[in-house]
Amino acid sequence: MTLLPLDFQFSQGSLQDYVDCRRRFQLRYLDQLAWPAVEAEPLLEHEQRMRSGAEFHRLIQRYLLGVPEKRLSTMMDSLGPEGSDLKRWWGNFLQFANVTPGGNTLVEGVLSAQFGSFRLLAKYDLISWDMDEPDRRVTIYDWKTSRQRPNRDWLAERLQTKVYPYLLVQAGEQVTGLGKLSPEQIEMVYWFAEHPQEPQRFSYSDEQYQQDHDFLAGLVDEVGSLKEGDFHLTADESRCKFCTYRSLCDRGTAAGSIDQVESDLEVETEQDFDLDFDQIAEIEF
Ligand code: SF4
Repeated sequence: MTLLPLDFQFSQGSLQDYVDCRRRFQLRYLDQLAWPAVEAEPLLEHEQRMRSGAEFHRLIQRYLLGVPEKRLSTMMDSLGPEGSDLKRWWGNFLQFANVTPGGNTLVEGVLSAQFGSFRLLAKYDLISWDMDEPDRRVTIYDWKTSRQRPNRDWLAERLQTKVYPYLLVQAGEQVTGLGKLSPEQIEMVYWFAEHPQEPQRFSYSDEQYQQDHDFLAGLVDEVGSLKEGDFHLTADESRCKFCTYRSLCDRGTAAGSIDQVESDLEVETEQDFDLDFDQIAEIEF
């Protein structure tokens, strides 16, 4: 019998945690254990960075939902020195992101679909599509505020790069009105606020969709079949440096340096964990 609750919903964050460390998955999603620890040092800088990242996402959400650009820019102008990151990112967004309000979009939307015995769910920064283009492209945008731009191979392996387009094929018909989406219609774009002219684009394909399906189904089956003693600590101790459970696992007490964080995806995993999915209007398939 599975240890997972029958209503368990997998997300890219929980699957990434499982792949990174089974114990982390157990502590976070099965035991739901909040463990106060510093994720990265220096603490104040890390906390400010996380706050700014969350504010940036809210700012872009307001802009895409129709709050006038001028009003938002005036708000940015009034920020003190602690808002310098946010101001820079906003300026970069307006100049380079090539995204405008209106049109056919889903902003900060959640899609979910049945996946084996469980559900698979994802929260998207932006899904945008064009009804008029002959090939009816659908683009997933994800805003990243990390200092460093992750390399493409690393990004390609992230669960987010697999789950987001896969789930859009499964559930996108409900939001776009384009009928059943084919993988070839879909592209995923990571846009980096600190590297605004160097987005990473991932085209989707039938082949990739099938690979992702097999991989995700295998992963979900595996997690669902694990017994109490199967949630081992990761053998890769470098993963523990930024993990809040490291003192609990006896994997050291000092947090890793913020300079070593490859991207803010880890930060988003935390946000993913904190999401109260019951409070979000889901589009289910
Ligand atoms: S501290 Fe290390 S072993 Fe423990 S949950 Fe975190 S990543 Fe896993």
